[in-house]
Amino acid sequence: MTDCIFCKIVDQEIPSYKVYEDDKVYAFLDITQVTKGHTLLVPKEHVTDIFEYEPTLAGEVFARVPKVARAIEKAFPEMQGLNIINNNKELAYQSVFHSHIHLIPRYGKSDDFSIHFGNNQAMYSSEEMQEIAKKIKRQVEK
Ligand code: AMP
Ligand code: ZN
Repeated sequence: MTDCIFCKIVDQEIPSYKVYEDDKVYAFLDITQVTKGHTLLVPKEHVTDIFEYEPTLAGEVFARVPKVARAIEKAFPEMQGLNIINNNKELAYQSVFHSHIHLIPRYGKSDDFSIHFGNNQAMYSSEEMQEIAKKIKRQVEK
């Protein structure tokens, strides 16, 4: 896709710190290095976000995540954990609209990464939870 920075990286039109490539995916260091080894895994084919994936391509891309994760772990054995993040749409912090998976190695509680999971369990009765689940269930594609 013209004017997509990650398509340009995949096509080698702009430089990147490549860590892995095959016929389906390209993985390279995120320029911000939230933590050392922070890597982005992208499909070579331009896909805007998670909502656009065909099942086959989704399988091919997500199957590569453990491969790259294990490589990061072996490269930096001092790593103590790994967050895998995939942001979709602007509100959810997507800033590059070519789907990508962040692999963010974690080295300790004071490394430069945090995430907040609120707990709003008290806001929903079991009936409301049932209703929410039902709404989603009805929409799952066969
Ligand atoms: P997101 O905010 O989830 O869309 O993530 C986009 C990521 O792409 C950010 O973490 C940026 O640091 C990263 N990024 C943008 N341009 C480049 C680039 N030319 N090379 C490497 N990483 C980039
Ligand atoms: Zn693209």
